[in-house]
Amino acid sequence: MARATSATRSRRPSAPTVPDAASASAGREGLSGPQRALRRLGLVRPIDLALHVPLRYEDWTRVRPLADARDGDEALIEGEVLACEVQLRPRRQLVATLAVVGGGRCTLRFFTFYPSHQRALAVGARVRAHGELRGGWAGWTLVHPRLLSPDAPLPAGLTPVYPTTAGLPQSYLRAAVARALQQADLTETVPAEALADLPGASGSPWTLQAALAFLHHPDPRAPRPALDDRTHPAWQRLKAEELLAQQLAQVRARRERDALRAPVLRAPDDGLPRRLQSALPFALTGAQRRVVAEIVADLARPTPMHRLLQGDVGSGKTVVAALAAAVAVDAGWQCALMAPTEILAEQHFGKMVQWLEPLLARLGRCVAWLTGSQPRAQRQAMLSRIAAGEAALVVGTHAVIQEQVTFERLGLAVIDEQHRFGVAQRLALRHKAGTAAAGMEPHLLMMSATPIPRTLAMSVYADLDVSTLDELPPGRSPIVTKVLAEHRRPEVLERIRQQVAQGRQVYWVCPLIEESEALDLRAATATHAELAAALHGVTGADGRPVQVGLLHSRLLPADKKAIMAAFAAGALAVLVSTTVIEVGVDVPNASLMVIEHAERFGLSQLHQLRGRVGRGAVASVCLLLYSPGESGRVSESARERLRAMVETQDGFEIARRDLAIRGPGEFLGARQSGAPLLRFADLQTDEPLIEWARRWAPRLWQRHPEQAQRHLDRWLGGKLDYLKA
Ligand code: ADP
Ligand code: MG
Repeated sequence: MARATSATRSRRPSAPTVPDAASASAGREGLSGPQRALRRLGLVRPIDLALHVPLRYEDWTRVRPLADARDGDEALIEGEVLACEVQLRPRRQLVATLAVVGGGRCTLRFFTFYPSHQRALAVGARVRAHGELRGGWAGWTLVHPRLLSPDAPLPAGLTPVYPTTAGLPQSYLRAAVARALQQADLTETVPAEALADLPGASGSPWTLQAALAFLHHPDPRAPRPALDDRTHPAWQRLKAEELLAQQLAQVRARRERDALRAPVLRAPDDGLPRRLQSALPFALTGAQRRVVAEIVADLARPTPMHRLLQGDVGSGKTVVAALAAAVAVDAGWQCALMAPTEILAEQHFGKMVQWLEPLLARLGRCVAWLTGSQPRAQRQAMLSRIAAGEAALVVGTHAVIQEQVTFERLGLAVIDEQHRFGVAQRLALRHKAGTAAAGMEPHLLMMSATPIPRTLAMSVYADLDVSTLDELPPGRSPIVTKVLAEHRRPEVLERIRQQVAQGRQVYWVCPLIEESEALDLRAATATHAELAAALHGVTGADGRPVQVGLLHSRLLPADKKAIMAAFAAGALAVLVSTTVIEVGVDVPNASLMVIEHAERFGLSQLHQLRGRVGRGAVASVCLLLYSPGESGRVSESARERLRAMVETQDGFEIARRDLAIRGPGEFLGARQSGAPLLRFADLQTDEPLIEWARRWAPRLWQRHPEQAQRHLDRWLGGKLDYLKA
């Protein structure tokens, strides 16, 4: 994927992305450097260029005297070069002094420069320079100004600055866009009735043509704030177009899916699901009953389910998956359950065996287990049971989607922590054979503890059905969260001593140090030693000395398994771990979670980690240790994350804040979204426009299908395939 260099600096995700195929073929066709760069940005057709809207504007319409300049002003000045030299200290730089027209002097400074700069700034030459004026005791300075010819007439309008990439000069891009605006077909695809319904619409709506003409070359008298913050009606028009394209693509994806066949999965009233439910040691919560009913209804339809089950950590998603599996199995089909980590898969396997195997045994069927690390012989045995259909349920990691795995008839695929998987992996599970032979697709249930904020659910995930577990099982006590500076570590150790002496268990999470797994391991090992020393001589509720375990990613799977099992059984009082415990692990007796260097974790990760405690009836505490580091300060966004953790325990609120802190691009993660993100619209501020697009997309398909198609082609061009996953 190409990324526009200047766009990455902007707050919005305005960098266009293109399929790599475009750039791969570009070299072979004898294109010039700038042409290749255009391709890399996905700017192939005239319409692509016409929709490549400026990041910002520069005002070159008049030359300013220094007399009325203020610090920080954007200004175009003109003058004669008095001196120009390369200085080496404090850094190599080109420094020129101008005698400015209208009086005063201005220093121009370039930290990267080329011979062309030196030629333009030869002593005695006349130049125009545009940039942000900085005024200090030493007079005015422009750092990295844009140099303009003093002979050209001043433009009448604001000068657009486009998102660009290496090898693509603004001047080239400007000319290409101007040409494209003449060539592109900009006839309307949005019906007048829809335009009249636009939020805040008053008077006659902007045509697409007028909106683009304006955005590329705005009148210098146009209100700059409305242009910069994208609230100007021309911006609104463009965002509405973009959001409509997104919704149209989603409506189309849904229609395509509705045209597919899936097995009808239905269980009799006294079937497996009913028997499983009565065998459970707890009653389902109201929310669980509701979402199970939603899933059961989907499974009974002959079109594939495509449903996301979202529920906060600890809300009880696993048992919902087990009930869905029971429906599939009762109907004579197989179910696959895939989890992102071995520990989690292992835990699911344990639960499924406990819950389902007694019921399956009578049918001569079983639960199979697949991971990358299992012994060959065991794996072979599992594979043949799966192929023969004897394995009613297959639980595992990514191993479940590997080629050698053939299902006899896969009816339902469940993906836990779905955001951890890429689009390709989700597709692979859907396309697992057995079902495909019969011209059918399995039903798909995705589960996530990271709820999708409303606006994202309405836009990027609009073709997905969503079930929400908005109720925790009874008897959970709220978790108290505290943020502590690193120097208060002794207090933390004291608290751990108290907890373990009462027979409670403690998690201590060390951060993953991305640059170095070895360093990461050393930190975790040191912490482990420190805790073992601090707890020396402390006995647990059973009178025996307490033990501290260490879990990290370098351990062999069997060792990890043994350590987790020891912690789950209560034989280890404290578990020091890197983030391997992040997802899904369930040990109700753990009541204290310590997260070291909490400032390095993402918000949803912190929330997931915290969700490991508070699973039983005992009051639980989460301590977030932070250290300010060399700068002596924790970054603003880290502070916001820690604050959010203290202020709320609600996963939805956490997700909303996470989206606000990170923006949708990062929130989704490139590998997870697959879909091109919005370039212009902003999920935070443009909710009314999203709602408008949602209302109109289905109507447009229905009433004006070929206009809808044209709209999609215009906006998404060759990128459409990306949306289908
Ligand atoms: P998550 O939604 O985070 O995956 P789990 O499925 O791991 O949550 O459930 C968390 C814990 O709650 C498990 O120990 C599970 O057995 C238990 N649980 C699930 N549903 C209920 C319920 N209705 N009543 C009591 N405990 C429940
Ligand atoms: Mg879970």
